Amino acid sequence: MRKLTDFPYQNVLVLGLAKSGTAVAQLLGRNGVRVIVNDWKTPKEDANVQLLEQQGVEVVVGSHPLSLLDNVEAVIKNPGIPYENPIIEKARERHIPVLTEVELIHYFGVEEVVAITGSNGKTTTTTLIYEMYQQANRPTALAGNIGHVASEVAEQMSEGQTMVVELSSFQLLGIEVFRPRIAVLLNIFSAHLDYHHTMEHYMEAKANITKNQTESDFLVYNADDQHVCQMIKDSEVQLVPFSRQKVVENGAYLDGRTIYFRGKPIIDIDSVVLVGDHNIENILAAICVAKVDGLSNQAIYAVLTSFTGVKHRLQFVREWNGRRFYNDSKATNILATSKALSAFKQPVILLAGGLDRGNEFDELIPYMSYVKSLIVFGQTSEKLAKVGQALGISNIIYAENVAEAVEKAYPLSEEQDVILLSPACASWDQYKTFEERGNMFIDAVHKL
Ligand code: ADP
Repeated sequence: MRKLTDFPYQNVLVLGLAKSGTAVAQLLGRNGVRVIVNDWKTPKEDANVQLLEQQGVEVVVGSHPLSLLDNVEAVIKNPGIPYENPIIEKARERHIPVLTEVELIHYFGVEEVVAITGSNGKTTTTTLIYEMYQQANRPTALAGNIGHVASEVAEQMSEGQTMVVELSSFQLLGIEVFRPRIAVLLNIFSAHLDYHHTMEHYMEAKANITKNQTESDFLVYNADDQHVCQMIKDSEVQLVPFSRQKVVENGAYLDGRTIYFRGKPIIDIDSVVLVGDHNIENILAAICVAKVDGLSNQAIYAVLTSFTGVKHRLQFVREWNGRRFYNDSKATNILATSKALSAFKQPVILLAGGLDRGNEFDELIPYMSYVKSLIVFGQTSEKLAKVGQALGISNIIYAENVAEAVEKAYPLSEEQDVILLSPACASWDQYKTFEERGNMFIDAVHKL
């Protein structure tokens, strides 16, 4: 295990328990830092509270007493806690640094870091990059938003390993020294404005990914995204653009049906398993990283011709009797489903429905020209059926749940058809999570 080195703070307040707070408190403790953990919501009986107390960590729950700041030199906060929280405001007034745990990667001496951020596509791109490194037999550790607390992963990393880390804008706000060798900026949509308030503030947060990079580092960026281009225009690091729309000589681009990197063909998109224009962008970004870090074309090719997608995100499940089945259970709104529908140029049987949030589905209509049958389920069945009727779709079938929807879809299909679960609705009317809904689809497809 690595040791924290040159960490400048001896007394730290960890704000927010959950998974990352607990992990951080433990690893700081192991490294001789005095820690107090504070959480407003978690009850005293919570398993994490008990665990930390047994390990001798001081835990304060139920409120955020400002006196907690009296003897601390830094605060490490959970990314979800807003900066308007009174204890954070107070800390900043007193010039106590407010950090996120990502910052610790640096103090564990991990220098080979590939960091990925953006409004959308982070998990897909992070996974693609990780898979390419694995395929090239390069020792790699996966970390961050994707499900592994970054500082904890850093502590466990051996020499020569590269960290591939997915970062949200919330995590990036709390960094001072974090410096990835390769940073990836995928796109900037006006998301999370409830937390960041303005687009400028949101962009500043994302820009933090590159703020400590130097001339020897790389910044992979989306040359088709205006906000991204604005952010990088004064950058002094080595810029590696990617574009789906134009030739970018110094980076990765799509020209016709072929993907190129710096003028050399890498792969034909007809050989790629992932579908959808948005995934082309994720692939271009991943290729930039792979090429900049010297991975072979074979490794890139092997991943792109086998990777079926991150689970529940337009994931290719199976081809059976000439039908292709896709699980896009994560599509819990109209925008996501319209993206999924845009990915296909052959007849689609769409399985959709779920929680009724009071909206109509007319905005889906422009994307539904390839939909030949519609299977609806859940609270929004009627509303979706109405859209199908407006389009003159002949087969509109009601199903009790996703499993039944698959059973009813198959007899309506022919060879070359796509059977797509992309619900355009949240799952909570019938399922605990979108994962549960997607798993039911996968099971039903394999049972056919
Ligand atoms: P994130 O981790 O940023 O949430 P994911 O890779 O999990 O992103 O993808 C979530 C959804 O975001 C996908 O199902 C798709 O609808 C959309 N998406 C993915 N990549 C992109 C992209 N490059 N541009 C726009 N939308 C995307």
